[in-house]
Amino acid sequence: MKVFKFGGASVKDAIAVKNVAEILKRFPKENILVVISAMGKVTNALERLTDAVFYPVKNSADQNITAASILVEIKKFHFDILSELFPSKDHPVFNEINNTFVELDWAIEDVPTENYNYEYDKIVSLGEVLSTKIVNAYLIEAGIKSHWKDVRDYIQTDNTYREGKVDWELTQSLVNKLLMPECQNGSVIITQGFIGGTSENFTTTLGREGSDYTAAILAFTTNAESVTIWKDVPGVLNADPKWFDETKKLDQISYQDAIELAYYGATVIHPKTIKPLQNKKIPLYVKSFLHPEEKGTVINEIQSPLPIPCFIFKVKQVLISISPKDFSFIAEENFSDIFNLFSEKQVKVNVMQNSAISFSVSVDADERKLPDLIKTLQKKYRVLYNDNLELITIRYYDQATIDRVTIDKKVLLEVKSRYTVQLVVKPMD
Ligand code: ASP
Ligand code: MG
Repeated sequence: MKVFKFGGASVKDAIAVKNVAEILKRFPKENILVVISAMGKVTNALERLTDAVFYPVKNSADQNITAASILVEIKKFHFDILSELFPSKDHPVFNEINNTFVELDWAIEDVPTENYNYEYDKIVSLGEVLSTKIVNAYLIEAGIKSHWKDVRDYIQTDNTYREGKVDWELTQSLVNKLLMPECQNGSVIITQGFIGGTSENFTTTLGREGSDYTAAILAFTTNAESVTIWKDVPGVLNADPKWFDETKKLDQISYQDAIELAYYGATVIHPKTIKPLQNKKIPLYVKSFLHPEEKGTVINEIQSPLPIPCFIFKVKQVLISISPKDFSFIAEENFSDIFNLFSEKQVKVNVMQNSAISFSVSVDADERKLPDLIKTLQKKYRVLYNDNLELITIRYYDQATIDRVTIDKKVLLEVKSRYTVQLVVKPMD
């Protein structure tokens, strides 16, 4: 069996959905398990909806209007696509999507409760439920014998909402029982990326952009022959075209380079995707949904250094430097104390460096998490921070590439290992 993953961009409108059917028709005899994300930018809209409901502005009616208007926008977006895909309003999918929106109405009716992350998952997960129902109905219309499966029935997680941890044993046994029997005789199964279920039947999400990870979980548990991620780029590039003018496609990457690049923030693949695939030596293809005939990139176990430097660029970085108030060394006890705080406040460290009495880290600017972390750190440590910075990671660097990317920038921190350099820089104006 093959696992395909279609992200938000590949189902962003009716034309894109039709293109998914065209791609699937290229594999008429295969068993294909198709993992789909929410359409276009729906996850962002659902996040805004959650915020609008959860943080009502006190003494103002505006906030409700905002939530209501976001909801109208989300409904309109989906029904516009439906109308384009299904000329007849009598098609049962209209009813089905209506019912899913009723679920969404319910989900936002009782909030806010205490637990933001729990409510977030209940609301935001519906993006994938909507997209898979629409795509599945269209595929059937287009003559593909696909069926829809609720991934929450077999990908089981703990109740760490917004970052569900997979219970691999339970997931494996549920996949064997509920999914495997359906994967035969040229079947196409449509299921949701990004979401999972708990033992109490609550919905969780696996972290933003988690659909790639879903594809990997399902490939691992079904022993799939390959995973293909269909994207709007020709494959894995050596740099994000958003930031760099000249990019090159890489034909092949080792699992190890892929996991390093993803870990440092290359957005092309979710970092958790590689491990399950590497563990079972399942190749991962990254291909263009616009040019499905082209080869794209393959990620596999062949170890070959990348032929050119790869760049990963992150903006909105905050460099925090932490030193004990009493001038004591930064040593093991401090490290464990500091890391515990980062983990407790769910702040991810992008790069770190330490000296005798100070410890510096660069993190993503996050208004909801950082102020609280900094306040807590300040009880024991002297904390300085510098924001609006950029983090540049270069894998397979040389001095010439470092010089080239740091023109007009002030380097505030530089961490080098054998293959990778990370630079926290301040743009000079
Ligand atoms: N829809 C989710 C997100 O946008 C998951 C994904 O796209 O992978 O984060
Ligand atoms: Mg997405």
